Amino acid sequence: METPTPRALKIYFLPFFAQGHLIPLVQLARLVASRGQHVTIITTPSNAQLFDKTLDDDAAAGHRVRVLLIDFPAAQVGLPAGVENLVAASDNDTAFKISMAAHLIKPQVESLMKQSPPDVFIPDIMFTWSKHSANTLSVPRLVFNPISIFDVCMIHAIKENPQAFHSHSGPYHIPGLPHALTLPIKPSPGFAVLTEALLDAEEESHGVIVNSFAELDVEYTKHYENLTGRKVWHVGPSSLMVQKTVPSVKGDEHECLTWLNSKENDSVVYICFGSLSLISDKQLYEIAIGLEASGHQFLWVVHRKNKDEGNEEETWLPKGFEERMREKKRGMLIKGWAPQPLILNHGAVGGFVTHCGWNSVAEAISAGVPMITMPGFGDQYYNEKLITEVHGFGVEVGAAEWSLSPYESKKSVVSGERIEKAVRRLMDGGEGEGIRKKAKEMKHKAWKAVNEGGSSHNSLLDLIQHLKSFVPSLERVANN
Ligand code: UDP
Repeated sequence: METPTPRALKIYFLPFFAQGHLIPLVQLARLVASRGQHVTIITTPSNAQLFDKTLDDDAAAGHRVRVLLIDFPAAQVGLPAGVENLVAASDNDTAFKISMAAHLIKPQVESLMKQSPPDVFIPDIMFTWSKHSANTLSVPRLVFNPISIFDVCMIHAIKENPQAFHSHSGPYHIPGLPHALTLPIKPSPGFAVLTEALLDAEEESHGVIVNSFAELDVEYTKHYENLTGRKVWHVGPSSLMVQKTVPSVKGDEHECLTWLNSKENDSVVYICFGSLSLISDKQLYEIAIGLEASGHQFLWVVHRKNKDEGNEEETWLPKGFEERMREKKRGMLIKGWAPQPLILNHGAVGGFVTHCGWNSVAEAISAGVPMITMPGFGDQYYNEKLITEVHGFGVEVGAAEWSLSPYESKKSVVSGERIEKAVRRLMDGGEGEGIRKKAKEMKHKAWKAVNEGGSSHNSLLDLIQHLKSFVPSLERVANN
């Protein structure tokens, strides 16, 4: 009998147009390519520019990963040329148009898949239309979910238990989960609509790939698999997996890293609210008050909401704040994009005030940095619970109200006093030491997971093996 000729799998990845989605899915694509598979990342020109340089190293290492460009339907949705990612949006209207464009690319992607059908299609879960396309074209599909399985379990529990939110004020107890958890505020109705559409998109997928590691979500993975009958592949934290498996990306030395070099271990609080959230001037002011009052050193990344209205310090910072902090060598502000993974991995960083975006959470866990949680929108309110109530490697500041969008101005702000208290709780010693210890223990588990023989490492191999099962001639070919 003839032995089947081994060939690589041909896999199409489709990342969504937002950094928090695109970064981990591109990382997954690179990981799969590093395991000898033929990887194509389908994206639009401006989105490609956000990551295509990182692929040069992969190409140099002989990995087969290419970018296939499609048009961004800018004219159809009424966006100026080049605005193709939520990172370039600062209002709901632009964000809505980018999401519309994500729907309108469907015919282009289908046409590519018709011309040259892949063995497997791995779209971001936000492309809810992918279920229909994969069915019509008979292409096996596995969705990538950039949020954690814990979040998905929360979404299911909230959907199934509307009675939990009948009272006018929180805390609201969420039944039916492995832990007794509470939410301080009600999820907005719009969020429920969005998340239910995502749950629907997950259906008929041959499983779900998440940017997490099994040890972080043990009970919730079991809970999810029992609930849905779908398998979960934890192949993260993707930033760590990439670091271990493919060539490292060299970045320019940012001045903040030099500043951190002059600080003692675990002595600096790092503050950053991700790539999308634009924080109101009132909230920035309160953050400054809280940081100054805490007495701790800080490195603060500021993406301002009203940055076009001038740079008058007094509108968003207490008078003389920057000079005082500079003179006392207490704090540094970065007004723009910061090299977050490098910062979190610097020994001087001892706490992270975060909006709880899943990538930031995964990066903090990987670096063993305890978190101070201030969720901003969407699933971030759930991530806060995972950090503080399920695992206890963070302290809660909490939020003043539930927001669906990163661009909506919140009516209420979180007071400087609340921020000061949370920073002190973590950084003053005492209770904070126990929290820090838990963060370091989870870091250890994350690193173990991505190393040879670890759970994420094995899960990646298992995933590739599973993908091969869609192609009968490859099923019997040994894993490479
Ligand atoms: N990020 C960064 N520098 C910044 C802001 C964000 O490197 O100044 C990165 C961060 O490391 C993370 C991603 O952008 O990988 C943000 O994703 P997350 O899911 O945390 O939040 P989102 O931006 O989706 O709200």
